[in-house]
Amino acid sequence: MNDDVTCISCPLGCRIHVEKKGDRITVVGHMCKKGEEYAIQEVKDPRRVLTTTVKIEGGRQCLLPVRSEKQIPKDLVKKCVIELSKIGIKAPIKCGDLVYKNILETGANIIATRDVESVEKK
Ligand code: SF4
Repeated sequence: MNDDVTCISCPLGCRIHVEKKGDRITVVGHMCKKGEEYAIQEVKDPRRVLTTTVKIEGGRQCLLPVRSEKQIPKDLVKKCVIELSKIGIKAPIKCGDLVYKNILETGANIIATRDVESVEKK
């Protein structure tokens, strides 16, 4: 298997070539160890931090930006976003508050990434 991946670990965005023969993985084009690790992870088990919004009731905004506390399998990101589109939470919310525990059994919690005050609070 041959694949080219773009490293997203830093703004340089190195283009990395990955070759997999059996259990042996060869990586070319990275400029640092972080890029090598990223490329191998991307081929073996690609993961992403999920970022999206959820509905919030009674808040100064109607949507709350959220993210996963850790990376989740890339192929589950869409399912998780759909799951989060079904929920609504109540204001007030503080940045870092738990929004959804262990989403789709990934082991990742979803947390708020900003404060949203209640409309009642002046
Ligand atoms: S390989 Fe290293 S230098 Fe290149 S984009 Fe990835 S982290 Fe940045």
